[in-house]
This record gives sequence, C-alpha cells and structure tokens, in this order.
Amino acid sequence: MNIADYKGIWVFAEQRNGELQKVALELLGEGRKLADKLGVKLTALLLGENVGNIADVLGKHGADEVLVADNPLLKNYTTDGYTKVICDLVHERKPGILFIGASFIGRDLGPRVSARLQTGLTADCTALDVEAESGTLLATRPAFGGNLMATIACEAHRPQMATVRPGVFAKVETENADYKVENVEVKLEASDIRTEVVEVFKEVKDIVDISEAKVIVSGGRGVGSAENFAKLQELADELGGAVAGSRAAIEAGWIDKSLQVGQTGKTVRPNIYIACGISGAIQHVAGMQDSDVIIAINKDESAPIMSVADYAIVGDLNKVLPEFIAQVKELKE
Ligand code: FAD
Repeated sequence: MNIADYKGIWVFAEQRNGELQKVALELLGEGRKLADKLGVKLTALLLGENVGNIADVLGKHGADEVLVADNPLLKNYTTDGYTKVICDLVHERKPGILFIGASFIGRDLGPRVSARLQTGLTADCTALDVEAESGTLLATRPAFGGNLMATIACEAHRPQMATVRPGVFAKVETENADYKVENVEVKLEASDIRTEVVEVFKEVKDIVDISEAKVIVSGGRGVGSAENFAKLQELADELGGAVAGSRAAIEAGWIDKSLQVGQTGKTVRPNIYIACGISGAIQHVAGMQDSDVIIAINKDESAPIMSVADYAIVGDLNKVLPEFIAQVKELKE
C-alpha cells in the first residue's frame, strides 16, 4: 500500500427509507473543517435505491462530491451488500479517511468494512482532528472505562476509519452550490448477500429523543425515586423540554434506558441542561459537556458537576425544585 495514494475524506451518508440520518450531516460538518485543514475533497457516500434526490441535501451540508450507489439490492441495509459496495469504491478511489455514524447500522458496518480493508477503526470518537503535514487522523475517545481520553492514530494503513455517535458534532449548512453528484457503478449480485430482509418494522415507543431536545432536565441518584422524577417532568414541561438521567437513575429503574445521558447513553447538546442530583462522573459529563448552559443542583458543593456548571445551586433538590418551578411559572405569567 502506498499511503500517499490515499487522499480525501469520505462520510458514509446513512439513509433509511430515503431519510438521511442526522449523524451523516453532523459528520459532514466536522469533515468539512478537517478537509479544509488538509486541503482535500469531502465526499459523501450515499447507498440505497432511488435515493439520488437526497444527494443535494448532502451538497448543502458541506460535501464537495456525492457518490450515489443506486441499486435495488441496496434498498435495505445488509452487511454483505453495503460492505462490498463500499470496499469496491475504496479500492478504486482510495480515500484517506472514512467516517461512519455510530448508529446501529454504522456499528455493524464500520468494523466489517475496516476488517475487509485491513485497516484500523476507532469507534465512538468524541473529537476528531488531523495533522496537516502527514494527513494522519487523530481520533479521540474515552478509554479504560472513561478514566482517560485516548487519541488514536492509524499511521500505517488506509483509509483511516472512525465512528462517531449522533449528537457529538453540529451539522453545518453551507451555501455551497458547486458540489458534484456522481452515480457510480454498483457491482453487486443477489448471491453476494447472504441474508434476506423479509420485513422492516419500527418499534413504536412513546419516548422522546433526548438528543433533539433544546432543554433537558436530567436526574441522578440524588433524585431518590421514580416518583420524585415527576417533579423533574413538571419542570421540563414548564420549559418545553425533556427529562433524562444518569446511569444510576436508569439502573435504579426510575426512567427508561433510552433516556440515559453519557458515554454509554446518548450525547446531548441542548441550550439548557439542568443536572439534578447528579455527581458529574466523567462518563456522564462526556455526554452533556457541550450543552450551551449547564445548571447543576446538588447538595454537595464539591461534586464534580459543579465545575462544569455555568450556574451551580447548592441545596436539597426537594427544596430547590419546587421553588425553581414556581419561579419559572411566575416568569411565564
Ligand atoms: P452519584 O454519583 O451517586 O451522585 C448522586 C449525586 O446526588 C451526589 O453528587 C449527591 O451529592 C447528590 N444528591 C443526593 N441527594 C441529593 C439531594 N436531596 N439534593 C441534591 N443533590 C443530592 N454514567 C452515566 O451517567 N452515563 C453513562 O453513560 C455512563 N457510562 C458508564 C460507562 C462505564 C464504562 C462506567 C464504568 C460507568 C459509567 N457510568 C455512566 C456511571 C458513572 O461512573 C457514575 O457511576 C454515574 O454517572 C453516577 O450517577 P449519579 O451522578 O446519578 O449518582
């Protein structure tokens, strides 16, 4: 392998039923910055059936080029089909870097592609950078149970691969009208795919997506019980926000697992994050530190959450929350 032959940044533009996943646009936003730093092209890779109409969205979110692999065999995601098409394209065009969203699909696809290409993959990154001179990707992620952040480089193999969870980066809309859309040839037979998708159904859950919420009222062990979460819900309702929690609150069974914020939960970046009775362990902070304004309510003034908070309220939740709700109501009147 001649590393110098590998240039450019690719982003896998995951779509489901013709709907782009927001992580693809977030990766394009970050990819744009890195491509500018390296002076290379940013390419979005779109696989599916009849998906050409969404290529423009990718161009308007930073891509210089959109490669569209359109084929009935790519209608539904299959590990075999998507891996083959992506690996064929990588062999042919030699990108230096390939980013994939750490969705359920991306977590399946990323390792398979990297193994087939015999290259490295850094999963669940929280920060990405590049060395302008060498083109080396610097992928940062929590390591050793979140006790330290490791920056990982894959110097000897290409492409350099990383997955990033939804919500870690912000999407950026550009005025770019110069992007190029190219339909690529898909060399895929039904016999290349060893699985058959018989039916796709969505699990219907009456649960909010906290990664989209503008205001989050989050509770930890200090909340004390499932019943006490009603007070957090009341505050969230007043502020037009959503309730979430730390892993301790989820493990206690007080709220649903899909509402967990942190390293093994969701990454959120709301306008306001109110941490109630949460100590601020590094694994929790990793998922909320990019919130615009952080308000912490904790009876322990030395709790680590206080040092990431913009506003720290030292006190017992049971006293502070009713007062907080009353004041919000008063302001709204
Ligand atoms: P605690 O640490 O017990 O803190 C409770 C806080 O409530 C304390 O600061 C206390 O002062 C305060 N308090 C108590 N009573 C009151 C009151 N009446 N009024 C006001 N304040 C009060 N954690 C996550 O959150 N998300 C993750 O994704 C995650 N992933 C992890 C992954 C790994 C590999 C590991 C090892 C751990 C992970 N954890 C995660 C767990 C994490 O290390 C902490 O254990 C957890 O975040 C603690 O939750 P907590 O802050 O609610 O509870």
